[in-house]
Amino acid sequence: MSRPFILITNDDGFDAPGLHALTEAISSLGRILVAAPDREQSGMSHALTLERPLRAHQVSPDRFRIDGTPTDCVHLAVDRLCDRLPDLVLSGINRGLNVGDDITYSGTVAGALEGALLHIPAMAISTATGGDGSIDYVQAADYALQLAQRILSDGLPGGGLLNLNVPREPAQGVRVTRQGSRDYRATAIERKDPTGRPYYWIDTIDMTPKGEPDGDHLALADGYVSVTPLHPNLTHETSLAPLRGWFDDSGEN
Ligand code: MN
Repeated sequence: MSRPFILITNDDGFDAPGLHALTEAISSLGRILVAAPDREQSGMSHALTLERPLRAHQVSPDRFRIDGTPTDCVHLAVDRLCDRLPDLVLSGINRGLNVGDDITYSGTVAGALEGALLHIPAMAISTATGGDGSIDYVQAADYALQLAQRILSDGLPGGGLLNLNVPREPAQGVRVTRQGSRDYRATAIERKDPTGRPYYWIDTIDMTPKGEPDGDHLALADGYVSVTPLHPNLTHETSLAPLRGWFDDSGEN
């Protein structure tokens, strides 16, 4: 393979330390192009900006700050900023885990998802914060490097993308997991502004994971790195047959 060309984005923004830790760790693998949001875009999921133009500010060769979402960054970079198709798209390293239901909100995962939709192998990388909010990107960067090397040499089986989550403490090893789930509930805090009108703030309290035996939550709770293969197609396979039954009056299908 010629020298690999790797596109990196994130959702914590261009100045986030996790982005720089990832870029530094990966730089030995080949040429890196960074296209990252100019500000925090966490929780933006797979949003694509359609109602206004996007601007890409070139900070230095192959380094771009973009006034858009992670999805905008990958989309724009692949079509306009890259002089050839990247061999790999990486998104992260996110400040905080992206496991279970959080994956659906994650701008970090969406950045990798956009790569997968564009038929480029992709991986999202997130790392846990300590109980005191402290964070260390070194271990996550090291696992990202190992996996990136493997993806570049072997590709990803069946397309799709990887969701890599790394614990705060030194890991016990790696587990290949499924996306887990939690007993989800809506949590919006209500307060009053100085004029007495209510305002709301979406809370992100930790909710109890269901703890599926091969789920991502449990792997991390046990001190392991979690690697989950994801795919962009949202079809719920097991619902196809019963749903077809709703419309299947004739006995044909
Ligand atoms: Mn984030």
